[in-house]
Amino acid sequence: MIEDVHLLCRRDDISILSSLEKFLSWAKSEGYKIVVVTNQTVVSRGLLSYKEMNELNQFILDSVESLAGKKLFDGLYICPHHPEATLKDYRIDCECRKPKPGMLLKAAKELNLDLSKSFFIGDRLSDVIAGNLAGVRTILLEGKFSESTLIKSSLKIEEKDKLPWKRASSFVEIIKTLEAL
Ligand SMILES: [Zn+2]
Repeated sequence: MIEDVHLLCRRDDISILSSLEKFLSWAKSEGYKIVVVTNQTVVSRGLLSYKEMNELNQFILDSVESLAGKKLFDGLYICPHHPEATLKDYRIDCECRKPKPGMLLKAAKELNLDLSKSFFIGDRLSDVIAGNLAGVRTILLEGKFSESTLIKSSLKIEEKDKLPWKRASSFVEIIKTLEAL
């Protein structure tokens, strides 16, 4: 949703990706539910409290909605864990951290989503894998991290799980892809 900033901690560093609000407005008008699924290590590193990190994420969602001029989001799922976290409370090899599909499966259950009719868009390999393992069609938004390697995980991953359903270079292209279905 935003330009990638390593360990985002400040509102001033937030830069929303071009045409994101256009794409989400389109998706909403098509009847899609919109859910945000994010790994956040700033908490496990002790850089922000959980409350501060949550507020920062909510601020991003509010900013996108204000650009669109309407309510867009149906859910926000955050994994604050890390297997090598600085803070002991968050140092677990959890089921929610992407590339594991835990947050997507939880969202599907809580919001009654049909995963086979859903799409998951992300800019990293961990997003593609999480989407594939959850059984949704994945779209890799190409950017500086889309070819990056995986962070450490206990998850066993097959080569086929690393392949996105489609690749796109912009949100405008994603609209075209989904409209053509
Ligand atoms: Zn987690």
